[in-house]
Amino acid sequence: MKSLRFISAEAFVSNAEFARKSLGAVAHDLFPLLFKASYLLEQGEVIHDLVENWPLFDFNMGKLLGATLDYQEDLSHRTCSVCLESCLTGLRDYVLNQSPPYMKKLRVVDLTGIKDVEVQFCKCKKTMGRWARTQLLSKLCSELLVYLQQAQCNPGTFEISINVLIDLFVTERNYDLVVKALLKKCSCPLKICCVAFRSDNLIHNVHLEMEHLEMLFNNIHFPVLMSLTLPARTFNVRRFTATDEQMLAHIGEKMGEMTQLTELNMSFSILTGRIQKLLSPLKTPLKILDVSNCSLNHTDMAFLANSFHANHLEALDLSGHNLPELYPSTFFKLLSHCSSVLRSLTLEDCNIQDTHVNMLILGLSPCQKLQEFKFIGNPLSSQALKHLFTFLCELPMLKNVEFPVPRDCYPIGITYPIDDTSLCRYDHQKYERVAEELNLILLQANREDVKASTPLFGIMEAVAQPPYPCASFFCRGKCDN
Ligand SMILES: [Zn+2]
Repeated sequence: MKSLRFISAEAFVSNAEFARKSLGAVAHDLFPLLFKASYLLEQGEVIHDLVENWPLFDFNMGKLLGATLDYQEDLSHRTCSVCLESCLTGLRDYVLNQSPPYMKKLRVVDLTGIKDVEVQFCKCKKTMGRWARTQLLSKLCSELLVYLQQAQCNPGTFEISINVLIDLFVTERNYDLVVKALLKKCSCPLKICCVAFRSDNLIHNVHLEMEHLEMLFNNIHFPVLMSLTLPARTFNVRRFTATDEQMLAHIGEKMGEMTQLTELNMSFSILTGRIQKLLSPLKTPLKILDVSNCSLNHTDMAFLANSFHANHLEALDLSGHNLPELYPSTFFKLLSHCSSVLRSLTLEDCNIQDTHVNMLILGLSPCQKLQEFKFIGNPLSSQALKHLFTFLCELPMLKNVEFPVPRDCYPIGITYPIDDTSLCRYDHQKYERVAEELNLILLQANREDVKASTPLFGIMEAVAQPPYPCASFFCRGKCDN
């Protein structure tokens, strides 16, 4: 429901020309209200002028667009291109406009509250994703620098210093631009502060490799960086040369300097025997670690299990490792160390078989805070799944389970991991019956709150979930949005 105040704000901003002319006479504390109303109506010009004349100390997108007393709806999921572009150009013009310096109170702009989702509900239907926001902000910073060097601008302009908190998304295509903006941060009134860093190279042939990464980390300090998503296959060499080893050590050291870093995603890199080199310089314990499909060996797992990170891990993804055969004891050691804080565990394609279920139950028993358990792609029978589900009912916080199609629903002789062509060749009726029985187990234990499903192609979706704030279901955000 909208308050009368909000309805009036909508009426005010819907006439862009009138609103822009009248802004000077509007009370400062009404700016947030007008901003949300303009965002809802996609009044780009009004948004631009509101930001250009922002009278307050901070500009926090998540807070401004989130639920407010005047209008409950959260608009932070709208990455409307019109609105976001107007915000960012408005910010540039805030720096450049002629208002006296004492009027310019803005110190912090926080863009990290913008959430990228698959489906967009805005009029223009054009989104500006994380990559495009990174690109535009970097471009505006570079333009500002050029402008400040050339033009006769207000001397007060050089005293403006606004920290702009943003989640960066860097690929080879915007690497140069972003690096330039970051390197010249000291002389630019808009200072990019990277809170989460992500770079990808999976689908569109955009590469950002170890050497780019090393250069980036060597030249730029990321003091507020909390989340780091390295490109899949950044470390894509089986035989590391001496230079590779050196680079790897540097990257590790640089990560150690990121004192806020608590989320690390390194999926699909070959890290065999190198986890210690990368992670031992870290001084802050990781809360989220994704090392799925990283070909970890026993030494890597032992390092993880014994490191101080183990006691802090809230989300762990070890998919693609043959846990029961390669390192049963170290894996369970790791699990026991994080059991008191673990919220999300992903063990897809880990060769967990019927004979391992009892061990798994023992390992999971202390994980009383577990909310999510994903284990598709494991060769488990219907019987074993039922046994496991009976146990899962006892985990009080559990909300989401992703379980595999039972092995006995596939033709005899199927081999794991199942290839894409055979993935759907299972007895669907039998699967439906088993899935019903599993749900019945949950119902009988009064666990209607647990959602159990088999998202066969959902690996994509899982990767798209926060902390990987990407857009579309299938592209996993590797498009430029
Ligand atoms: Zn729009």
